[in-house]
Amino acid sequence: MNHSHHHDHDHAHLASALDLDAELLGSYVDDAAAVITRSLGRAPQRIVDLGAGTGTGTEALSRNFGDAQLLAVDSSAEMTALVEERAGAGGFAGRSATVVADLDDGLPPLGSPDVIWAALSLHHVTDPAALLREAASALAPRGVVAIVEMAGLPRFSPDADTALGTLEDRCHEAAADAGWEALADWTETLGAAGYDVLHQETIRVARTGPNETVARYAVHWFSQFRHRLADDLTDSELALLDSLIDPDDPASLHRRADLTLTAGRRLWVARPADLHDVAIIGGGSAGLSAATTLARSLRSVVVIDGGEPRNAPADGAHNVLGQEGISPLELLARGRDEVRGYGGEVRSDTVVDARRDGDRFALTLASGGTVRARRLLLATGLVDELPDIPGVAELWGHDALHCPYCHGYEARGSRIVVLATSPMSAHQALLFAQLSDDVTLVAHAADALAEQDRANLAAAGVPVIDTSAERLRVRDEGGSARLDGVELADGTVLKADAVVVAPRFVVRGDLYERLGGTLAQTPMGGVIETGLMGATAIPGVWAAGNNTTLNAVVTVAMGEGVSAGAAINADLVMADLLLGKTVEHSR
Ligand SMILES: Cc1cc2nc3c(=O)[nH]c(=O)nc-3n(C[C@H](O)[C@H](O)[C@H](O)COP(=O)(O)OP(=O)(O)OC[C@H]3O[C@@H](n4cnc5c(N)ncnc54)[C@H](O)[C@@H]3O)c2cc1C
Repeated sequence: MNHSHHHDHDHAHLASALDLDAELLGSYVDDAAAVITRSLGRAPQRIVDLGAGTGTGTEALSRNFGDAQLLAVDSSAEMTALVEERAGAGGFAGRSATVVADLDDGLPPLGSPDVIWAALSLHHVTDPAALLREAASALAPRGVVAIVEMAGLPRFSPDADTALGTLEDRCHEAAADAGWEALADWTETLGAAGYDVLHQETIRVARTGPNETVARYAVHWFSQFRHRLADDLTDSELALLDSLIDPDDPASLHRRADLTLTAGRRLWVARPADLHDVAIIGGGSAGLSAATTLARSLRSVVVIDGGEPRNAPADGAHNVLGQEGISPLELLARGRDEVRGYGGEVRSDTVVDARRDGDRFALTLASGGTVRARRLLLATGLVDELPDIPGVAELWGHDALHCPYCHGYEARGSRIVVLATSPMSAHQALLFAQLSDDVTLVAHAADALAEQDRANLAAAGVPVIDTSAERLRVRDEGGSARLDGVELADGTVLKADAVVVAPRFVVRGDLYERLGGTLAQTPMGGVIETGLMGATAIPGVWAAGNNTTLNAVVTVAMGEGVSAGAAINADLVMADLLLGKTVEHSR
């Protein structure tokens, strides 16, 4: 910490200045405590006092929050010893602990506090933005930082027109020109460090009844001016300062009984933008099911969804028990309502970047915001890369099919043409042959069929045409596109009611890769490999649904989501236990 200006003070001097400050101006903590309670929606349970000094703030916080655990951090062991003394005398030793740590070396373990309090200390830190970012990672979800600085320098002159008043004005001007760090404004830094400022106010404190403490406090400040602004003041101003701070001088401040004090504290209460227990990327069947499980476990959970569920083109989602044939979009709309009903958040946005940020994850949204979370569930699904045959994309999900269980029943008994584009195609044809006697396979890609496939197809009564398909013939029927037939390379047209293709499954795995993961290759395409209940190789990251199980239908994706949600909740339960123990041990 940048304490260079304290070099000519010993700790006792600094400690007494801090105590004076607290004695005269400490009542602002009561106002700040009320703001903190309002911001959290409850009284805090764990408070960290960063740069605690002699512990006057720690004590005032302990008074305001009678049940809270307090951790006082200071770079000086002399100071933390004073805090401990104060805690003993003030009766809060049993719920407080101290840590000696230089904030320029980063934060020590803080035990997931819901308030990080930094009064007149942040300006000592070399890189406040970096410290604030670290604090964002250390805070409990929905936790806040409360930062206090001076709102201008304290004034002591009862009358601005006197020699003292004029000198005071000059000193304040010079201090402002010299950019005294004690006058820091953290609004921009907080924004840059990823915080939303919830509350900002200047709390005024006035001492009109002059007293001896005010005089001592005035001496402290005028001494600061004398030593730190020596280059900026005139000789006569310096001479006047010398006489004011000399206890033996008849004009000394020590001897004045008419001093008054007006001062202010500036308070910022800010919350890291969107810190959640769990962020779920993807609000399809998997993501929303996980979100429901987590929200029902009272976890703060946010789902960020780009709104492109894989089965969106289909009219109905089948094999969904109790909701048979429901519109896929209606199903998800109900899911979103259910998540919100339990207090979860669902946002329409796209996550464009995901990275680890300390022991948290930071997600960058296309809208420009940032979401932070302790755990991450990737429920991003996959993209069906369709064979490049004109008409397929247009009919996809209606008359162009891939999954016998999803929409085979609806095509039962009709004329079905299977376009063999992959080694899966023969298998598809056999399954569709279960549903119709009129299934034909067009061997579109040369290597799509093995000898055994041909034998199986023959046995199932599926004729094979060894040519490629040019395009689908599409007709308009009451405003919607319907399949007429499949035009082959030689121009002939196979009349058909449905065409079956085998899309290439392209898992949305880019965010997993950005986080350092590698997709596992399977015969059907790359997947995010998962172990027990959706855990991936990356600690803190789970995956569920089509991005890990290519053939997961809606209910399987739901099941994987519920499993992953439960696993994440259990993981957080254990993590919170460990955090509790950390605080216990540091006491
Ligand atoms: C045409 C068709 C019909 C189907 N019919 C059925 C059926 O009848 N019955 C059945 O059980 N199954 C059916 N399926 C399968 C079903 O679609 C899947 O099982 C299901 O969609 C898988 O759910 P999911 O949550 O894994 O992925 P999805 O439902 O695809 O959801 C993934 C979500 O993640 C979002 N997302 C991805 N990346 C990001 C990002 N970076 N930021 C924000 N959001 C992101 C996407 O926009 C999407 O909304 C069908 C599939 C198709 C293609």
